[in-house]
Amino acid sequence: MDSLFAPWRFSYLVQGKAPEGCIFCAALTSSGDDDRLIVYRGRLNFVILNLYPYNNGHLMIVPNAHLRSPAVSTAEQRAEMSELAVAGEEALREAYLPDGFNLGMNLGRAAGAGIEQHFHLHIVPRWSGDTNFMTVTAGTRVIPEDLGVARRRLRDLFLKRLGDDARGGA
Ligand SMILES: [Zn+2]
Repeated sequence: MDSLFAPWRFSYLVQGKAPEGCIFCAALTSSGDDDRLIVYRGRLNFVILNLYPYNNGHLMIVPNAHLRSPAVSTAEQRAEMSELAVAGEEALREAYLPDGFNLGMNLGRAAGAGIEQHFHLHIVPRWSGDTNFMTVTAGTRVIPEDLGVARRRLRDLFLKRLGDDARGGA
């Protein structure tokens, strides 16, 4: 279904460029996917590794549009976000053999959102014995795996499942 009412599109036109200070918008418009830890670009959302991960393989699915909540996103955006989340779960299962996952969003500062103006879905692989979900997106940890290595592993697994992304190539 086509959405005629798209307030995010309007604000984008008014501002004429990505909002300053938003790391997701900056990552999206950069040319260095490797440096920015972008794993995969869909049509309406992209997948990025968390620079301050809770665990190895901590992914985020982020809409291309600078939106503060799913409530102002379109059904199409949300549908693709769900597809990418499923691909993320599968890719992480294959890469890291986790015992479980947390998927969730923090909307608003009070809920622990680090970047509250641009909503995103966290996908965090979990292993038996690590701590509860409340600490997942609020705190940070030191992670042994190099993020560049993780990015390449996961990108290959996304490409295998979904084919070339919006950027194409590797
Ligand atoms: Zn943004």
